Amino acid sequence: MIIGSHVSFKKDAQLVGSVKEALSYGSTTFMFYTGAPQNTNRQTIDDNLTKEALKIMNENNIDINNVIVHAPYIINLASNNDFAVDFLKQELKRVEQLGMTKLVLHPGSSVKLSKEEGIKNIIDNLNKVGKSNVLILLETMAGKGTELGKTFEEIKEIIDGVNYPLGVCLDTCHINDAGYDLNDFDKVLDLFDKIIGLNYLKCIHVNDSKNVISAHKDRHENIGYGTIGFDNLINIIYHDKLKNIPKILETPYVSMDDNSKERMYPPYKFEIKMILNKKFNNNLINDIRNYYK
Ligand code: FE
Ligand code: FE
Ligand code: ZN
Repeated sequence: MIIGSHVSFKKDAQLVGSVKEALSYGSTTFMFYTGAPQNTNRQTIDDNLTKEALKIMNENNIDINNVIVHAPYIINLASNNDFAVDFLKQELKRVEQLGMTKLVLHPGSSVKLSKEEGIKNIIDNLNKVGKSNVLILLETMAGKGTELGKTFEEIKEIIDGVNYPLGVCLDTCHINDAGYDLNDFDKVLDLFDKIIGLNYLKCIHVNDSKNVISAHKDRHENIGYGTIGFDNLINIIYHDKLKNIPKILETPYVSMDDNSKERMYPPYKFEIKMILNKKFNNNLINDIRNYYK
């Protein structure tokens, strides 16, 4: 089982910190942002830390090809500005310097443009970024606001327009919110295969959703605590056709108590345990609080 979660990438320890965090959750892979997800301030990569991290990964059988980097979600390739293009070029260099091979990217939001213009900009901008040694994975989106990439057809259109190979990252919360019924995942996967092609699928974001199907909201929920439900998520995680694809949790942190609105404790150690046991833990939130307090 190739499973892990989003982990931090902090100034002092960089990739060493990320790997150690992933191992502390019992993960066999992980995903990180090269800085804060919501801004584009990035520090230079320390090659000594990277070397040390790769050694730890090697010792723990974490395959670098299963590790995912996520681009910051504020860069918008659907808009008409060169900033996103320049940033993405730099980001791809950082990813490569870190020895990583896959970068997940939110396609973009059309904002005041039409959907067609937005998609055309994404294609043109990705062509401007150009081919690198890193595979860009377009993430399937919830369709919140004017987000593009909320249908398999939109993703396919971008793939077809770009003059180098791309991959896809399927996010379970997002496709639920976009209107795909995960009670019948085989049908969704068949549709994905027919429209895009299963061989494009390189990463799965495993999240439950706070909202009902077609809500176009994008609010992640802990595994088994949302509208998708534990059994449906287990069915996806253990699906025969998805065996060798990394599964990444991006579920919300748990607050220290019911009265606190702050999300402080990472749920991943306990969610991964629940997934490996294939048994729902209805005391998950308390187990997490008790462990970290
Ligand atoms: Fe994402
Ligand atoms: Fe995601
Ligand atoms: Zn999301």
